[in-house]
Amino acid sequence: MADVWGSIVNVTEASYRIYYFLSSTTMPLFICTSPGCKESAVRRYGSCRICKGYLCVKHVDQKFHRCPNWQKREEVSAYKAQQALAEIAEITALLSRVNVGALCARAATLRNVACNVNLDHSLKNRLSVIGGFNYHVPLTFADGVAWICRIRQNNITSTPTAHTNSLILSEVATYRFLASKTKIPVPAVHDFAIDSPVNTVGVGYILMDQLPGTPLTEHILTEEQKRRVMEQMSDVYAQLSQHPFSKIGCLLNPEDLTAVGPVLEESTVDADADGNLLLLGPFESAREYRVALIQHQLDLILRRESYIKNRIDAHLIHRWLLDDVLERFSEPGPFYLKHMDDKGDHILVNAAFDIVGIIDWEWAQTTTPAEAFGAPVYLLDHPRFYSGDNNLGDDEVAFARLLAARGEAELAGFVNGGRVQHRLAHCITGGEPGNFEVLQTDFISLLRIILPPTEAPITWDQWRAGAWERYAQDPQLQRLL
Ligand SMILES: [Zn+2]
Ligand SMILES: [Zn+2]
Repeated sequence: MADVWGSIVNVTEASYRIYYFLSSTTMPLFICTSPGCKESAVRRYGSCRICKGYLCVKHVDQKFHRCPNWQKREEVSAYKAQQALAEIAEITALLSRVNVGALCARAATLRNVACNVNLDHSLKNRLSVIGGFNYHVPLTFADGVAWICRIRQNNITSTPTAHTNSLILSEVATYRFLASKTKIPVPAVHDFAIDSPVNTVGVGYILMDQLPGTPLTEHILTEEQKRRVMEQMSDVYAQLSQHPFSKIGCLLNPEDLTAVGPVLEESTVDADADGNLLLLGPFESAREYRVALIQHQLDLILRRESYIKNRIDAHLIHRWLLDDVLERFSEPGPFYLKHMDDKGDHILVNAAFDIVGIIDWEWAQTTTPAEAFGAPVYLLDHPRFYSGDNNLGDDEVAFARLLAARGEAELAGFVNGGRVQHRLAHCITGGEPGNFEVLQTDFISLLRIILPPTEAPITWDQWRAGAWERYAQDPQLQRLL
């Protein structure tokens, strides 16, 4: 492990830099693979798993890109069938890289007990794909102990290896932090390795306990069961609130659990001309953090990698966030660790609805207390939220009451005021860059919370007319036009 770790440090330290705006050395993360084309590929939906192509703003159009389109009703079934075939091919290719003998030997050495790895399970049972990004290969020891080997999906939608390696390090560091500093239930990590030529297992992995229990999202809960889970979650919030950090970013060093590195959120990743990663952060202030992320999004819009069909409006929204919205927030540190993918399948429960584990911390980062302690996404009233309604759902209100009842008035306040953070996070990074309507709803809903009623725009058209007037002569807008 020491050798692997040594190479990790070299890869990552050479790659991390902070930058704030379009740098002349910044390159697209991926280049269009259409013959002769050298344009930037569109982020996310410009990566096609079916034809394994990266597609630019021109070639992603169906005039050029002939794979079935999931947005067309008549092509949905063909799309699903071809995606499924692509996925099986991806899993087969990934698992063929796993040196089962080396993995078994490594696990057996760590426990001094013989071990068996069942790769077929992962291929036949695609339910073992966790969170859409990772495969969990079961390891069974001769004495009945069960571990899993967590391997990251690898396909055309994956970020560069230097980034996925950083995610492994970050997840391990976060698990170690939680296990050593808190009583939050997390699986014990027994071993890990990044993807590298010296990794004899063949792929980057994390070896961890297989926890009993099933994801919370697989259950329909009674009010009593819901309350039981929320009580335990309020304890998790209280524990996280005991551990302040001075910077915003991700834990990245499994050997130094106090060190905060850059943010790893997928949409913030960039590369320089030599293919090194350019990551944002770590940040010493919330202002620095927000500005860097918004400017990066403006950069992606300019480079035709994001919001390609609505780039003028998406640009105006992000300019407005930068110039008008941020100054309305005062977010002093310190900062706190947050599970950034808290949609419910990260919580494992037993039959009595005891939380037996909280998993999938790969995107976890430190952030402002208001963002860290807003209600988890799984408690939102989703139809209400996505319709643009800013009122809290019943579960959020109940969660805030539970926190208040246990004496955590400040945390309860963050849940009660959490809608601002949910909207802001969606506007900056959380939304789907291909789905402009979601951004539009989140942005107007955000303005309706933070502006005094006399200033709040009633409609999108009203706001847009004002924004257009404000930025008509702006050089950046002129460049887009
Ligand atoms: Zn395709
Ligand atoms: Zn192209």
